[in-house]
Amino acid sequence: MLKAIDINGQKEIIIIDDQWNKDSIEELRYRGQNNQLKCPVCDQPVLVKAGEVKQWHFAHRDTGSCPLRNESESVLRGRIILYRWLSKKYPGKVLNASDNNNINKIKSYQRSIKKK
Ligand SMILES: [Zn+2]
Repeated sequence: MLKAIDINGQKEIIIIDDQWNKDSIEELRYRGQNNQLKCPVCDQPVLVKAGEVKQWHFAHRDTGSCPLRNESESVLRGRIILYRWLSKKYPGKVLNASDNNNINKIKSYQRSIKKK
């Protein structure tokens, strides 16, 4: 998966965001190793997988039944294409749905659509 929640501050982290590079990813890897990153769906700890070959992603630390556990490479690639396209088309407007402020923005937008 491409997303994880940083338990310090409950911030959503997207591993394909431009802020993550070969240097900064090490800090994120450390946070994962110390159980500070969790899955946004099942709340279980996740690790950073950032090697040379495969697409960088988060992986669950333990086995379990989370639906995000077995995302295929092609699903990951599809999500990446969509994320990059939307980020380019709407700079700074791609919302993190787990952020409370953004949830309120989405709800407010949905209410304004219903009124029309
Ligand atoms: Zn999970």
